[in-house]
Amino acid sequence: MKCFRCGYENPDNSLYCISCGGSLGVPRADGRQQEPYNYSYHSPPPEVASAESNAVASLIMGIISIVSSSVLVGLVLGPIAMAKGRKARYVLDDRNNNFYIALGGIITGTIGLIISIVAAIVWTVVIVIICIGAGAAISMG
Ligand SMILES: [Zn+2]
Repeated sequence: MKCFRCGYENPDNSLYCISCGGSLGVPRADGRQQEPYNYSYHSPPPEVASAESNAVASLIMGIISIVSSSVLVGLVLGPIAMAKGRKARYVLDDRNNNFYIALGGIITGTIGLIISIVAAIVWTVVIVIICIGAGAAISMG
């Protein structure tokens, strides 16, 4: 059954378009199709819409977690990006582009988290070296 909005060919008996989440019109008891979907009232089902926004948020947070990993923001944003991405992929079909955006969020979030952990270790070592150095300088007078 073809989607009225994006033209995607969905399996018969689908209630919603796999590609854009639009309603395909519910088959009635008498076997006839409902009126073609009314564009002006179109919106994806709430769970798909929220999964799609989670997918996008996941990718954005994942990218920020990589960019900001040196200041350890990535330690927070990386795991959030991974969680949001997983949640979105659980809801979305793999023929929906947001499915892959969510995958990007999981990957970038993971990279951001790893870089952040490495950065945390490096910063700890640097701070310890500075403290030891300062301690030595003080003791030497
Ligand atoms: Zn569609």
